[in-house]
Amino acid sequence: MSPFAGWSLFKKFMVISSRGSAKVADRSPFKIHRELKSIVGDVTIELTKLGSGDFMVELKSNDQAKKLGAITTFLEIPVTVIPHKSLNNSKGVIRSRDLRCCSEEEMVEELSCVTYARRIKVRRGEDKIQTNTVVLTFYSPKPPSRIRAGYLTLDVRPYVPLPMRCYKCQRYGHGKDRCKKPAAVCVRCRKGVHVERDSSADPHCVNSRGDHAASSKTCPKFLGEQAILRYKAKNGGTFQQAPSNKASNALQGWRQKCPFCPAQGEKSPESFSGSQSPESSRN
Ligand SMILES: [Zn+2]
Ligand SMILES: [Zn+2]
Ligand SMILES: [Zn+2]
Repeated sequence: MSPFAGWSLFKKFMVISSRGSAKVADRSPFKIHRELKSIVGDVTIELTKLGSGDFMVELKSNDQAKKLGAITTFLEIPVTVIPHKSLNNSKGVIRSRDLRCCSEEEMVEELSCVTYARRIKVRRGEDKIQTNTVVLTFYSPKPPSRIRAGYLTLDVRPYVPLPMRCYKCQRYGHGKDRCKKPAAVCVRCRKGVHVERDSSADPHCVNSRGDHAASSKTCPKFLGEQAILRYKAKNGGTFQQAPSNKASNALQGWRQKCPFCPAQGEKSPESFSGSQSPESSRN
């Protein structure tokens, strides 16, 4: 496999946003789907409505991206079409002692497939020490499996971030600045917010209702979120497209192809399309 497998400048994920008071989201799903098909010429394109009311399109070729990028109206509604802010990029981790003398700037300058480089530092007492591990951001929805760095050929591991847990309501998927819950919840027990930490209270997790703190790394909800992030880091795509165990089990139970619907292209059984999941802007 080429060291640059998976790398391309093709913008796979594009977002269609309505510009005025008329919204594309208020139009019939049939008409929206038909209009998109007539623009890109493909019926199997994935179209997902985002929590914001914008539409995200997952394209298959640069030709389709160019066609969609050129439109200024959709169903006669003025729109802008731009590449998705984060999904067209991916992160990967490289590690080499031979990179110890390279700056982050030098790596970005030399590696043409990379937009950003961040060297991992660890704390030793008061000091922060540079490691030989570097997180790279690539111009592609999936990280390549290997890269050439000067005379080196380096394996790239997908970068898996820690699940994001809100410090206010303790739920996963948003930070405390975007929390919409009115009241804070204690990380350790079910008492809600309380000034004095009551260490005698029984631990209770608001996410799984288990007998542990909401911050526990053994919480089934934490492990589920981590599995989704691991899948996403390796395969690219949106949060909704990752096979959450619960969702894919449920889907496999009842989702069978309708004989009257047009073919949607074959999907692996665990593939879980965003259009069936609850709306969420978590991607
Ligand atoms: Zn919250
Ligand atoms: Zn408490
Ligand atoms: Zn839990």
